[in-house]
Order: sequence, then structure tokens, then C-alpha cells
Amino acid sequence: MSRSRVAEIAGAGLAGLAAATALAQQGWKVRVHEKGKDLREIGAGIYLWQNALDALRTLGVYDQVATTGVRSEKPRLLQDHKAREVKLRREGDADPELIVILRTELHRILAEQAVKEGVEIVTNSRVLGADPEGRLEFPGGYGPKADLVVGADGVFSRVRDSLRLTERIIDLKDGCGRHLIPRMEGDGLSRQRIEMWNGGRRIGMAAASKEYHYVFLCCPEHDTAGRIQQPFNLEAWVDSHPIYEEYLSRLPRHPEEYWRPFFNVFCSAWSRGNVCIVGDAAHGMSPNLGQGACVAIVNATVLARAVAEKNDIPAALAKWEEMERPYIDQTQKMSYLYGYIGTRWPQKLLGLRSRILPIVARTNALQRNLRCAVDHKPGI
Ligand SMILES: Cc1cc2nc3c(=O)[nH]c(=O)nc-3n(C[C@H](O)[C@H](O)[C@H](O)COP(=O)(O)OP(=O)(O)OC[C@H]3O[C@@H](n4cnc5c(N)ncnc54)[C@H](O)[C@@H]3O)c2cc1C
Repeated sequence: MSRSRVAEIAGAGLAGLAAATALAQQGWKVRVHEKGKDLREIGAGIYLWQNALDALRTLGVYDQVATTGVRSEKPRLLQDHKAREVKLRREGDADPELIVILRTELHRILAEQAVKEGVEIVTNSRVLGADPEGRLEFPGGYGPKADLVVGADGVFSRVRDSLRLTERIIDLKDGCGRHLIPRMEGDGLSRQRIEMWNGGRRIGMAAASKEYHYVFLCCPEHDTAGRIQQPFNLEAWVDSHPIYEEYLSRLPRHPEEYWRPFFNVFCSAWSRGNVCIVGDAAHGMSPNLGQGACVAIVNATVLARAVAEKNDIPAALAKWEEMERPYIDQTQKMSYLYGYIGTRWPQKLLGLRSRILPIVARTNALQRNLRCAVDHKPGI
């Protein structure tokens, strides 16, 4: 019997766990190194669009995700102080499937599936880098040579840096706080998700479990009253979004989460030799389209297919990047654009935004570009 091929992965976030499970399902012997002393995911809720749901189906966890999370329908985008509605779809366009779920639950489901598929997860295992031959570097020296090494170690990836693949990490000067608030009887939000913009502030809300609504509060970095959410400045947010006072007042004075800045990651390539990067390490993006983790999960599963039964791993990785990178780069751009319009639009021109957004939002070109990740069918 031929030996199983070996993969070593840095990072047990959503991308690392998805890659680990997908590779194990292809017969690889997989070990994941997580620097944290526990396996855990931070953040409140997460949007999982149709593209990620298809990938989660191939990983064998779709049913669990669907029963744990909440299927979200009827999106509403409201803008400006008059809460005018912007139609997000043209008449007759189908809504892509979307499930909102607690991050901790999604991470647990993926970690359990990885273990079930035979993946070894080592916590307290900090990776310092990798060499292109296929070895991870640890504080005690290099580990054993693997057939494939995957850097899924997030925005500030050591694996990416050590291979000199990093071009730029851009701080986008906007960000958001993510929180959970209790669901109450009579809330209008059972399956609906809403987003409301006023000035540079954006509030998003959707049910994420039977007990909780997921709430995100975005604003530019210079908006100190909006940004500093320890203690939570209820007055400031009610001032910009009075119609959500009832929901906002459920946020604790000292929420667990704080305002997180958004970054765009640009790299020269996704691989060198037998080492590749995936997830935020390779294509970190602002979360304005709710696609960062979705494309990370999809791309991790495509990666496993790309190297399946291939002897020339470097060539297979180059092909994977050639096929999958264009739509991910485009998603990163569109997410940035959405954030620019919603959060960083010049305050003096807000009246113009209110007038043109409802028209531009329904154009074919914008719709096609906003949906490029949801509509993408992997080439491998
Ligand atoms: C406010 C906000 C809201 C978001 N909302 C959405 C959304 O609704 N939908 C969506 O699809 N995306 C969303 N995203 C994006 C999404 O969270 C990320 O794209 C996704 O979590 C990236 O996963 P990852 O596994 O690549 O990286 P990470 O989650 O950063 O995981 C990296 C893992 O590697 C470990 N690690 C790091 N360095 C090392 C090392 N040296 N050695 C060993 N282990 C290491 C870390 O501890 C971590 O466990 C959002 C992001 C933010 C900031």
C-alpha cells in the first residue's frame, strides 16, 4: 500500500480547519498546529453565504450548520436619517441562501468534523515560519518534511512572511464591534436581517441562534464615540440610529468584544514550493460583504481538490491560484468599495449618496460584482 501523503497546517481557525478536513477526506494524514492553548474562535456571529454553504456540504457539516444557525431572508438596507430603503435586488432576482450562526458554534462544528476525519490538532504549538521544501519552523527548530504545508495563520501570517509572499497589509481605517444581544418575544427580526446606514455609521442585525441576535456596529476609525465600545456608548449609537434603541439598549455596558479594525492583505503569490497560504493569510479582506470566511472555507476545499492525486504539488498549487484568485481579488475590491460608500463616504456629500445609491445599487454591473463570490463555481 502506498503511504498517505502528509500535510502540516499552521492555524486552527475556520480556514485551517476546513483545509484540514478537506485534505483528510482526500486521504491525507493531516496535523494542525494552533498557537492558542485552547481551540477557540472569537467574535459573535457570522454570515455564511451560499458559496460557503456549498463547501460546508462537501465537508459533511451543512446539516449541522443549518440546524444550529438561522436561515436569514428578506434583507433590508436602510440609509440616512430618514431610514429610506435601498432595494438590494432587482425585481425577480432570487436571494442567495444565507445562514447566520454563532462563530463559536461554527468553529466547534468544523473542529469536531476535522477530528472525526482523523486530523490531529496540536494546541500551544506556535509556528514561526516555513521553508518552501515543506517544513514548518517552531521555536525548537524545523519540524518533519511534509508533502504539503498550509499557512492558515490569519492576517499577520508568519508562514506568508517567512516565504516573502507579503506585499502589503493595509489598515482600512474602518472597523466594527461585533456583539450578541438576547432575542425577545415580539422582536420583528425572526428571520430578517437588516442593515442601516447613517452618516459613517452602519448597524447590522440578524438572528444567529434561538437565543441571540448578532449585531455589528461599523464606523470609521476617527469616530471615537462610535469606535470605543468599552464602555458601550449607547447615547452615541441611539443618536445615529434611534429606531434601534430597543435593541441597542440590550447591549451590556461592557460588551465582551471591542472594535476591530479591517485589513486588506495583498500577497505576491499564494504558494512557494510545497507551501501555500489560505484564508486571511492569503486574502484577508474587510468583512463588508460577509465573505472573508466564506471564501476562506471555499478556497480551502478547492485547495484539497487541486492537490488530490497530484505528484507535482508546486504545479498544482500554481494552477489552484490561477483558477481561483481572480474572483477572490475582485471580492476583496468590492468589499472595500462597499465599506468606502457605507463608512468612509465624505460627510459633506451624504445627500448625494442618498440620491444615487438606490439607483446604482440595482445596476447589472454592481449586482454582478457584489455577487461574484456567491456566484463563483470553482474551476477545480
Ligand atoms: C468584524 C468582522 C466581521 C466579520 N464577519 C464575517 C462574516 O459575516 N462572514 C464572513 O465570511 N467573514 C466575516 N469576517 C471575516 C472572517 O472572520 C475571516 O475572514 C476568517 O475568520 C478568517 O479565518 P482564518 O482561519 O483565515 O484566520 P483566523 O480566524 O485569524 O485564524 C487563524 C488561526 O491561526 C492561529 N495562528 C495565528 N498565528 C499562528 C502561529 N504563528 N502559529 C500557530 N497558529 C497561529 C490563530 O490563533 C487562529 O486560530 C469578519 C471579520 C471581522 C473582523
